[in-house]
Amino acid sequence: GSHVDTVPAPGLYDGALGVLCGIECARAFAEAGYPGRHPLELIAFSDEEGSVTMGTWGSRALTAALLDSERHELSCEDSALRQTLAQSERLIRQLGMCVDPTPLEELAPTRAAAYLELHIEQGALLKGLGAPTGAVTGIVGVNRYLVTLRGVAGHAGTVPMRERRNDVVWRVARLVHSYWSYVESFGPDAVMNIGDIDIHPGSFNVIPDRAALSVEFRSLHVPILEELERRLLDVAGSLGGEVEVVGRDKPVSLAPEVREATLRAAAALDVACAEIPSWAGHDAMSFAPFMPTGMVFVRNTTGASHCEQEAADRDDIQAGLELLAASVMTLDAAQA
Ligand SMILES: [Zn+2]
Repeated sequence: GSHVDTVPAPGLYDGALGVLCGIECARAFAEAGYPGRHPLELIAFSDEEGSVTMGTWGSRALTAALLDSERHELSCEDSALRQTLAQSERLIRQLGMCVDPTPLEELAPTRAAAYLELHIEQGALLKGLGAPTGAVTGIVGVNRYLVTLRGVAGHAGTVPMRERRNDVVWRVARLVHSYWSYVESFGPDAVMNIGDIDIHPGSFNVIPDRAALSVEFRSLHVPILEELERRLLDVAGSLGGEVEVVGRDKPVSLAPEVREATLRAAAALDVACAEIPSWAGHDAMSFAPFMPTGMVFVRNTTGASHCEQEAADRDDIQAGLELLAASVMTLDAAQA
């Protein structure tokens, strides 16, 4: 499976490529009369990007791995989540499809031999390695925080500079500078992003009294994520800031036996396939705790994702699709 939603102003491939390749795979098996030993199910997830709640909502709902806050929202009649679900149901019915009323908790997969997902790479690792396809080793851990700094509002002209040493924007600048250098010290093992800075009240002539920063960092290693959190609390604390944890997704290791199956299939097809990690989150994360899980990546020729510049070559897509089908067949033959 993969997902059918994406971000605003997206590229062509994120999510959709994996769903279409899954359909094509199932169609090819049916046409060829492939006698699979296991039943094959294709799933098109929704809300992988997390428009209403945290990301990978569809796959977490299916694996009963929703957060307590999301369960609470589901139980409240007028919550934004319930309204969005009702809206989706209406749309699904309008399209002539039906909605299965099975409660989410009862959908949880209990016995499956493996989960496989094809996705366009959302970075440029395969491009750099010159490989059209990839077998994913693991998926990055992501921590998100809201940092708030408070100060004293005032007139922009009448307060002398010597009285502004505690200015919130000056402290934001120090926090960003200091924390940025710290994250850089981990080299290729960590990345950070400050996706939003909200300054209140946001006017030329008013000294701001509050700043809120959305801080995210990622790493494949738990000790680094812990170290980065400790330092963020220290730096923000020393500047008088408050830190709220928005969410922590642990890094996920994908199953070596599924990766081996993909690498063996690639060798048999004579397709170059590199073992690489994923610095983006995927629905596969939701399945990894429950069953052997793997991912096949298709080279992104620009390395850009979540934007219109996202691109893939036809030949690479063909190679990825064949590798997905061959991986399924290899697993089908090997797994009990
Ligand atoms: Zn995606």
